[in-house]
Amino acid sequence: RMYKRQLVCRRDIDVLNVPFLAIYESLIPPEEEKQKQKQLMALLERLVSKEWPAAKLYLYGSCANSFGVSKSDIDVCLAIEEADMDKAKIIIKLADILQSDNLQNVQALTRARVPIVKLMDPVTGISCDICINNLLAVVNTKLLRDYALIDPRLRQLAFIIKHWAKSRRVNETYHGTLSSYAYVLMCIHYLQMRRPAILPCLQEMETTYSVTVDDINCAFFDKVEKLGDFGRHNKETIAQLVRGFFHYWAYCHDYANSVISVRTGSIISKREKDWTRRIGNDRHLICIEDPFETSHDLGRVVDKYSIKVLREEFERAAEIMQNDPNPCIKLFEPY
Ligand code: ATP
Ligand code: MG
Repeated sequence: RMYKRQLVCRRDIDVLNVPFLAIYESLIPPEEEKQKQKQLMALLERLVSKEWPAAKLYLYGSCANSFGVSKSDIDVCLAIEEADMDKAKIIIKLADILQSDNLQNVQALTRARVPIVKLMDPVTGISCDICINNLLAVVNTKLLRDYALIDPRLRQLAFIIKHWAKSRRVNETYHGTLSSYAYVLMCIHYLQMRRPAILPCLQEMETTYSVTVDDINCAFFDKVEKLGDFGRHNKETIAQLVRGFFHYWAYCHDYANSVISVRTGSIISKREKDWTRRIGNDRHLICIEDPFETSHDLGRVVDKYSIKVLREEFERAAEIMQNDPNPCIKLFEPY
């Protein structure tokens, strides 16, 4: 009898696979968008190399980590060795160089936490932010992209979760909720923790890729094509994973004591990281360890008000996934 009940439940949730996959497909950027990004990168490379022949440009963030939805802005990092020049000066010079070409709305934001040049390319219609020497972001972009290549369910889950977070307005770091980067790490961690596991822990495996950036050694296994169909022993479907993800963050996560860690593929304790007290503005109300900058908690933007908002949204989503006859509508209802 129990067995029959489980089967019924299972079939019920799985009717949601079709609409969830349809939402996922509708969010994937079309190939022509990728072409336009390449076209803009080529233009930027040409302009930058005139002034700094040794400089390099890297795409990072959602346009390069495979978790970007259609019509996203692109994030670019200028890698440059100008020991005698501070970032603000480089930003101003860069804005100058780009201004002279027919790029639009070129702005140098030298006072931002991460100084950037913003611009819009009228030919491709793409907006872009360029930062200087933020190479850790380039490396974490590669880590995310490599994870996405291991099992298609990661990209599906992350697209659905990002879409939910944007619809419900809990993807706004300036309002104390989480970045897209944090949500993707939560998805990777969730799939690492499934039994059987759907994702491995690349940083605990043999090192095949290693770079040192800002004194941090970033090492992991990146020959992901050799992992075969790693998650094949786990048959969970996208609908079950979406439900399980929200259920975990609504009812199972130990907010008081736990840190989720993609680096170790496990849960570690706040005590172990000394993240138990509030220091300055770091409250550690939801703890997500950065895989490389391990002293960095991606939940540090969350304050005592926004943690309530966030947890209520997780509970709302879990409740909808459990009981609502038509969850795909309700889940993404604009806030
Ligand atoms: P979106 O689709 O919302 O633009 P995104 O992946 O570009 O998503 P952002 O949160 O805009 O995500 O961040 C861009 C990139 O910057 C991330 O992919 C990551 O490499 C890096 N990044 C963002 N926030 C942090 C952070 N707090 N610490 C370290 N790296 C970060
Ligand atoms: Mg972005």
